[in-house]
Amino acid sequence: MQNDSGICITPMLMTYCPQCGNKLEPMPIDGVERRACVFRECGFVHWDNPVPVVAALTEYQGKILLARNARWPAGLFSLVTGYLERNETPKEAVVREVKEELGLDGEVLDFIGCYSFKKKNQVILAHWVQATGELKIGTELSEVKLLSQEELRHWSFGPLTLTTAIVTQWLENTKRTKVPRSIAPQPPNGI
Ligand SMILES: [Zn+2]
Repeated sequence: MQNDSGICITPMLMTYCPQCGNKLEPMPIDGVERRACVFRECGFVHWDNPVPVVAALTEYQGKILLARNARWPAGLFSLVTGYLERNETPKEAVVREVKEELGLDGEVLDFIGCYSFKKKNQVILAHWVQATGELKIGTELSEVKLLSQEELRHWSFGPLTLTTAIVTQWLENTKRTKVPRSIAPQPPNGI
């Protein structure tokens, strides 16, 4: 869990140019203030584009698994999240994070949605993941909690507004589909 969903941290400003080592200063570029290299021949611009982060709403043993980051206060739980590795698809990344953080084998059942996490300049790609195996939490987590759908519906994520939005959307989707896709009865003859 590399991402502190909902925890406000002032983003670090890039101070020096990674290309030439000169200072970066605020400069208007195409009408938008960017941090750009003062050495004109270098031309480096720090575009500061949002970073994608995957999040797993993890279903395990018929319940939803919430995790508490080791650095978070007691009672604050969220989803398993993490950055993508180079050449990884979001689906592969979310399955890897579930393995790393929970020791579980994951299968993506559905994409829940994408969410802008402006405080941290991230875009969260939320997935519904079915997990199996023996739970073994990684060093970045301190504890997990298993909730039924009904318990989840009434659970408060406190300041974690994005987590609340993801869970609310998932509960809505689940209500519509009634049964998880993975166990939905298949029509005869496979039609
Ligand atoms: Zn430069």
